[in-house]
Amino acid sequence: MKITLRPDLKSMSTLRLGGTADAAYHVQDYNDLEVLGKKWPELGPRVLVMGRGSNILFQENLKDLSIVLWGKKDDPVILNESGEKIKVMVDAGMSMPGLLRWCSARGLTGLENLAGIPGRVGGAVVMNAGSYGAETADALNRLTVWTPDSGIMEIDSAGFQAGYRSLDFTDIAGPFIIIKAGFILGKDDPARVKSRIRSYYNQKKNTQPVLEKTAGCVFKNPPDSHPAGFLLEKAGFRGKGRGGVIFSDKHSNFLVNKDRGSSQAALELISEAREKILEMFGISLEMEVEVV
Ligand SMILES: Cc1cc2nc3c(=O)[nH]c(=O)nc-3n(C[C@H](O)[C@H](O)[C@H](O)COP(=O)(O)OP(=O)(O)OC[C@H]3O[C@@H](n4cnc5c(N)ncnc54)[C@H](O)[C@@H]3O)c2cc1C
Repeated sequence: MKITLRPDLKSMSTLRLGGTADAAYHVQDYNDLEVLGKKWPELGPRVLVMGRGSNILFQENLKDLSIVLWGKKDDPVILNESGEKIKVMVDAGMSMPGLLRWCSARGLTGLENLAGIPGRVGGAVVMNAGSYGAETADALNRLTVWTPDSGIMEIDSAGFQAGYRSLDFTDIAGPFIIIKAGFILGKDDPARVKSRIRSYYNQKKNTQPVLEKTAGCVFKNPPDSHPAGFLLEKAGFRGKGRGGVIFSDKHSNFLVNKDRGSSQAALELISEAREKILEMFGISLEMEVEVV
């Protein structure tokens, strides 16, 4: 297992903010998982399992943080091809854009709405990433999960519950690594799947700063209200910045690291926005981006 000491968290997250962790454990296969299990007590009090780092705001001056990355990303395996429902098993280290390319080449449909989400499959599962009315969990039917106490476990859909940007397990309370995700997909013409992926991606690119240093939506959309982006815009936060970090003028709920911003400036700006939205609309916005 490769271990990097004092890894630079800026280069490990799409927002490109933060300091360093104590160590990053790059877990590539089942042998590495065994080694990790033995080492686990040495990892310290705070362990973050992460994927692409596209939903994380790392702070500077972090102490006692160990990072674990599950990097296995072999080609997905088609488990059965009979009938209309195709079951596939995907390594959680695979990128979502890579999975979508693989699906489109084989005419497998069900995940097209998620085009443009830059995370890994494991991160999409844990966040129940969603876009344009569909969520990862819509097609998810089983998971292979590793925990330091129990090792590898196969969990079917009765063993997890997905919510808005969340996934909870019935029987796992502590740390876990998503190793593989099983999806049930449909069959369609590859050209049509490809065209839908392109269309969702273009829609995203036209309305969100997908090519900038960002971590997607800062806040969850509050229930029974307008989307967080609308509230932020009404409160004057579209394009508003502090210390090199701004709320995007393309989409007010996206924080962008424009010019060597700091996480401290980002957190101050986020606090200011939350206070203003509470004052103006009586709504307490919940974070979607995870602050570590
Ligand atoms: C340009 C841009 C656009 C985005 N658009 C969307 C969007 O439309 N919809 C949406 O929902 N999100 C969106 N996001 C946010 C982000 O891409 C998603 O939340 C994504 O699913 C996170 O995946 P990740 O691999 O980067 O996870 P990370 O950010 O690395 O981690 C996110 C969470 O998952 C956990 N995790 C990650 N991998 C594993 C694993 N293998 N095992 C256990 N836990 C794990 C981490 O501990 C953390 O809690 C966007 C982000 C960007 C930068």
